[in-house]
Amino acid sequence: MRKLKRFLGRIGVLAHSIRFRLVLWFAFILTLVLASFSVFVYLIQSRDVHNDVLTRLESRMALLVARRPFGAVLVPDNFVQEDEALAVTGPDGSVLASQGSSLSQDFVQAALHGWQRRPQQGASPLDFVALSGYLPQTHTDYLFLVAPFVGRQSLQGFAILGTPLDPGGRLHALLLTLLIGSLLTLAIALGGGLWLADRAMRPVHTITRAAREISDTDLSRRLNLKSRDELGELANTFDAMLARLQAAFERQRQFVADASHELRTPLTIVNLEASRALAAQRNASEYQRALGTIRSENDFMTRLVNDLLALARMDAGQVPLAQERLDLSDLALDAVERLSDLASRSGVQLRTGELPEVCMRGDRQYLLQMITNLVENGIKYSAGAQPWVCVETGCGEGKAWLRVADNGPGIAPEHLSHLFDRFYRVDQARARLDEDSPDPQRPSGTGLGLSIVQWIAKAHGGEVHVSSQLGQGTTFETVFPPADEESRTD
Ligand code: ADP
Repeated sequence: MRKLKRFLGRIGVLAHSIRFRLVLWFAFILTLVLASFSVFVYLIQSRDVHNDVLTRLESRMALLVARRPFGAVLVPDNFVQEDEALAVTGPDGSVLASQGSSLSQDFVQAALHGWQRRPQQGASPLDFVALSGYLPQTHTDYLFLVAPFVGRQSLQGFAILGTPLDPGGRLHALLLTLLIGSLLTLAIALGGGLWLADRAMRPVHTITRAAREISDTDLSRRLNLKSRDELGELANTFDAMLARLQAAFERQRQFVADASHELRTPLTIVNLEASRALAAQRNASEYQRALGTIRSENDFMTRLVNDLLALARMDAGQVPLAQERLDLSDLALDAVERLSDLASRSGVQLRTGELPEVCMRGDRQYLLQMITNLVENGIKYSAGAQPWVCVETGCGEGKAWLRVADNGPGIAPEHLSHLFDRFYRVDQARARLDEDSPDPQRPSGTGLGLSIVQWIAKAHGGEVHVSSQLGQGTTFETVFPPADEESRTD
């Protein structure tokens, strides 16, 4: 019972497979074509045979009718050949003479009746009439010719001459040949079709098996299908998708690991400071120092969590960006004003260069955050006797741009390509600031600022470039498409 169920299940699966349906359709169409072809050939052939037989019958009947010296019918001995049947009747249908296969009285009457009912249009009483009929004693279909004898103005009688419709069984043989040929063709085509469909569908099985084997933790598997057909293309697309998924998973994993790692250090510091302060009785200044450290680490963690949250939202596409028309110079001025306090506390001169009106479309809040990140970095990492950060904007070659330049320590070329990676920091710069920072208020970096800058620039259809020279300074330039012409006039 279980075996039967499994067998039926397999049949069900097969019946729903593309391979089976393809072959079924193919077989159906081929059967139609073969059947139409066979019917056509058979009809043409049977018409030809019928015409041949009729011509022969007519010439034989003409021979017979010509031998009537006295108006009576004179049938020569052995007139009929092979399977022919001949009956000569009186005008009332009574059989006067017969040769060959005998015709029953009923058949003769029916034949004469057929002659009387012949089409009358232009008919002459001497017309031959062809009729087909079945002779039970020979089990064969016959074609009969009924011819009247007219002597001395009156009907003397009839001659009925018949011969098999399919002499020598030609039509029968043809039918058999067509049937066997069609069945053979169908069988070969079905076998070939199944084999071809099976071959064509084999890559699908490979893809299915591989897809089943791929788990969400191991995305390193690839189909590596070498064929250049549509299925090969599908497999390549699948492989490319897997590669993208794997890269995204890897990034995600790395991101979570880095974020945990980043949080672990300040948490450990907070824990240590608190434990140390609580371990014994301390004086007020020691408590103050401990609380200062804890607050500074807390600030760092708050910034880190905020940056992480912002990036997570950006990655998830949950950031609806406004498309308001705004002046990039306005935003630059705004950011400079907000950060001037931090700059003066850090001993950095924050100045503006050329700030002509630069119109573009975008989200004020995010663009402000982008400029703030860049200027803050300039302040954080600038050094030297007279550190400065300069912000300027402009428009040219169909682009709106904003530059933030500083005369800081610069960035070594090998770091430039990684600068926008998440949590990437150029170590020396960080070490210098962490250890030597004269201002405890100065923000230490999370390593996410430039990733956020890049995301905001890209979300506005722009890009960020960095150029730097060690010991000379660094310039960040963001380039955007300007506001469209229509909005420029309003
Ligand atoms: P952070 O929050 O650490 O500043 P960012 O993503 O903003 O992170 O910057 C990444 C790294 O790039 C920084 O750690 C720093 O080493 C380097 N960097 C960024 N801006 C400057 C700059 N103006 N001058 C020198 N180094 C910079």
